Amino acid sequence: MKKKFWKTVFLAAALLLSPPPLFSKGAKAPQDILKGRIICIDPGHGLTKKKYNEKIAPTSTKTKPAFVSGTRGAKYTEEQLVLIVGKKLQTRLQELGATVLMTRETHEAERSNIERAVLANEAGADMAVRLHADAGPTKAVSGMHMLVPSSEYVKTPGVVAESKKLAQLVLKNCVAETGAKNRGVMERSDMTGLNWSTVPVILLEMGFMTNAQEDALLSTDAYQEKIVNGIVRGILEYYGVK
Ligand SMILES: [Zn+2]
Repeated sequence: MKKKFWKTVFLAAALLLSPPPLFSKGAKAPQDILKGRIICIDPGHGLTKKKYNEKIAPTSTKTKPAFVSGTRGAKYTEEQLVLIVGKKLQTRLQELGATVLMTRETHEAERSNIERAVLANEAGADMAVRLHADAGPTKAVSGMHMLVPSSEYVKTPGVVAESKKLAQLVLKNCVAETGAKNRGVMERSDMTGLNWSTVPVILLEMGFMTNAQEDALLSTDAYQEKIVNGIVRGILEYYGVK
């Protein structure tokens, strides 16, 4: 009897002293786990009549159109698809306590690529997540990849390395969730939105709208949820929560 009593006391104490359970696969992440984090979500493209060029980087003389229209699939245009996924991601991150900045919440392109980067910079965002879908050279090309800034123009200490680390974790989790082909993380020095960022920034190409099979998946609520799950898990893993 006494032995059993002490065993109960010991177990209760062990339970009380054990660290809080970590977010594991299948489990629900504790609320407010992202409290204090500022995350900028940029659903790429948008509708606009504005037409002008802007510098691809603060220190470059090269310019590119400030607004470009994206690709399209059978059901959605890229602009529509990334806005749907962006809003789902916004909701999930807010549920976890994060402060979320959206570069656009309507179909209109309110900001140019520079202005989208500046929004995150000026808010002192912890990271910026840019969402896109791709068009392939052939209809057979499929899969997900990530674009991150290179050190050619991005000189803010830590930004290139942290962007790459975040991109790898988010891509790994997105691929695990969706079963999409992993096309890897690529450094790019020609992307205005990446070059102007002074905070860690990743650009997720969620899949190819020119691949009929992948396009059909991308247009379903279930697949979009998987992408959002992958992004959230990647961000949590970046912050050391597994
Ligand atoms: Zn795009």
